[in-house]
Amino acid sequence: MPAKSLAARKDHLSRPANQLELLANGIFKSGELPTFREKVKQTYGELKPGKLEILQINVGYMCNQVCSHCHVDAGPDRKEIMTRETMQHCLDAIKKTGAHTLDLTGGAPEMNPNFRWFVEEASKAGIKDFIVRSNLTIIVANKKYYDLPEFFKKYNIHVVSSLPFYKKEKTDRQRGKGVFSKSIEALKMLNAVGYGKEGSGLKLDLVYNPSGAFLPTNQEALERDFKNALKEDFDIDFNQLFAITNLPISRFLEYLIASENYEDYMYALVEAFNPSAVQNVMCTNTISVSWDGWLYDCDFNQMLELKVASKVKHIEDYNEEVLQNREILISQHCYGCTAGAGSSCQGSVT
Ligand code: SF4
Ligand code: SF4
Repeated sequence: MPAKSLAARKDHLSRPANQLELLANGIFKSGELPTFREKVKQTYGELKPGKLEILQINVGYMCNQVCSHCHVDAGPDRKEIMTRETMQHCLDAIKKTGAHTLDLTGGAPEMNPNFRWFVEEASKAGIKDFIVRSNLTIIVANKKYYDLPEFFKKYNIHVVSSLPFYKKEKTDRQRGKGVFSKSIEALKMLNAVGYGKEGSGLKLDLVYNPSGAFLPTNQEALERDFKNALKEDFDIDFNQLFAITNLPISRFLEYLIASENYEDYMYALVEAFNPSAVQNVMCTNTISVSWDGWLYDCDFNQMLELKVASKVKHIEDYNEEVLQNREILISQHCYGCTAGAGSSCQGSVT
């Protein structure tokens, strides 16, 4: 499809159904490239849920940042916030789940006024492994958040934080002016209570995602570069670096179209399809819960409003056995999870 006509469709992309339509019928209309479904069928077989390990709960789309690549379309003006009542349904599900990890995400999950209460209650409900996806800058945004590193430590929360690059210019370009300096300040506060320090048992991982229409390079090499640069320049330590591929949805899809990179990016994803990544894509071991309690195969399907294909669709009716037999809903955006070394919220999957 010519870039011009894609650009004309940009306005419609705030609606997830239009994003799906574009992904399904854009450059693939001519049939010259296979659908993700066909590709998986030819090379792997059927994509099915495996053992459930992670409940990923999105406690709201409000965020103190407005990053250019954000697949959640999060920002300070988003009002969607999980209520205590929905959190209570999540806690009921947590008591029944076989999943060992609770992964809290947003927006900035810490901005939900019930965030700390929820962590405390989930801990009482038996969750041992917590992940909080913190954008770092929230820790220094306001004095009411300054003690977050201590709070994380108290519950032995595994902190996973985005840092697009170890240099100011690239980071600020993607995440906003001043974000790099604030992120460094927050990383120092986390290091000060033991996060990322050898022997502390407090895990601090960073997430890298490309700042433009290209795929991430080798995760191990990137991790070495990040570790060396952050140590040398700021005396900062962290554990692992996760390299994540930007999926062509939401704000990143708009960026691809506005920059006339959409077609090339989709071709690059399809060309880099790696069958051995399929078995470990996120939807095989995770269920994603939205701020209003609906259930999804993953965070990306949540953004595309593709609710699980199961008679259990809401956390209020949670039934893991029924959910485990669902069909995973896949479409062209899924190529982002299987390109190169594969990509998930925990980085490469191969
Ligand atoms: S990418 Fe993360 S930090 Fe940036 S706007 Fe989205 S949720 Fe907020
Ligand atoms: S986008 Fe979601 S449903 Fe598609 S492969 Fe990735 S994790 Fe699975």
